[in-house]
Amino acid sequence: MTANEDSQARGGLRRWFGLGKTRGADGEADEQASPAGEAAPQPADPRERRRQLTLDEITGFLLTHRLPVSVATLEIAHDIVTGANPIVGRLVAERIASREPVTLAWLEDVVIAQSRDNSGEQLHHLVMRLESSIAEFAATTTAARTATNDYNSALEAHVGDLGAAGSANEVIVQLATLARDMISRTRDIERELSRSERETRALQKNLADARREAEMDHLTGLPNRRAFEAVLKQEFGDSREEGEALAVAFCDIDNFKRINDVHGHEAGDRILRTVAQSLAKISNDKCHVARHGGEEFVVLLRGKTAHEAMDILDNAREKLATRKFVNRATDLPFGRISFSAGVADAHSYETSGEALRAADEALFRAKSAGRNRVVVANCADGSGGDADPAEHEFT
Ligand code: GH3
Ligand code: MG
Ligand code: MG
Repeated sequence: MTANEDSQARGGLRRWFGLGKTRGADGEADEQASPAGEAAPQPADPRERRRQLTLDEITGFLLTHRLPVSVATLEIAHDIVTGANPIVGRLVAERIASREPVTLAWLEDVVIAQSRDNSGEQLHHLVMRLESSIAEFAATTTAARTATNDYNSALEAHVGDLGAAGSANEVIVQLATLARDMISRTRDIERELSRSERETRALQKNLADARREAEMDHLTGLPNRRAFEAVLKQEFGDSREEGEALAVAFCDIDNFKRINDVHGHEAGDRILRTVAQSLAKISNDKCHVARHGGEEFVVLLRGKTAHEAMDILDNAREKLATRKFVNRATDLPFGRISFSAGVADAHSYETSGEALRAADEALFRAKSAGRNRVVVANCADGSGGDADPAEHEFT
């Protein structure tokens, strides 16, 4: 883009936002126009100046990355320059630092992925709030129904006595009638409360279903990172208390970007599901497997040392690496699909977070050592190796 085009585009945007005494993009001066390329006068009002500055930064962002001007790109650019979306801002800065282009498609992917993460988080908090309100309501309803029932029984016990005494005293007869009336009304209330209790139980079940949804990764069907972190914390504390071993592992598919690049994102998704399924085979009530994000999985093995966990993972790695996958959409081979993993003895670390980081560092070493292998944290030797292709499988 030439300096003139740049200036014209900025002018167009300013005018669009009602800020410009600038020349239109077609070069024709309008009523408010100033000569081409001339900077618009600075508004006296500081708020207006800030607004103009923000607008300049938004324009600069769109121009620098040659992004089209649309409501969506303006919104993204606005959130980045104002810091309203620091996560996307950081991802953009990293992308620029790595000299990769900030394209519209990339930006959209990042924003969609981020809002998906956020909506999961929001859903989680909503479910938590609802669950606690409903639990409170259920307790109140049960207490009210029990109290009503007790009250009724007490009234019923005394109403007979009142009736008998009534023959001697007119006032007592009236009291007995009143009491009978109250019994019938409290019976109605009790029925209502019991209906409320049933509805509350149904609501609690719906919420439990919603919670399961919020803790599941929809692509692979595995538990997601949030669910895993909760299990990790719990198991870390429990196993430490009971003096039981606990191993934690990080697994990452090797050269997965190449699969997306060569076969496309959908095929990449199918491979992700296939790897998830093969890892899920090792899961049981003492072994939790979850998708941590992207092409990364985490495994928690209760009652296993890091070396025992390494054997289990290495076995899964080898089984996967010896299968030969073919893209069913194109009949083209995917080549070898493998993962690398890092394993750590959780109780060699103060916190579950530190243990996870140690496993991640070991994973990094597995990658550096050539991939398709499992490495134990603080252990120099890794294991693994290539395997011969077996039968073709379509995925
Ligand atoms: P390495 O062996 O070093 O791990 O290389 P890699 O290519 O696997 O790692 P890199 O981090 O360079 O690329 C990971 C890729 O995974 C990039 C990203 O687009 C892709 N990816 C992340 N999540 C998904 C997903 O849900 N579906 C698909 N198809 N691709 C995904
Ligand atoms: Mg990765
Ligand atoms: Mg990878």
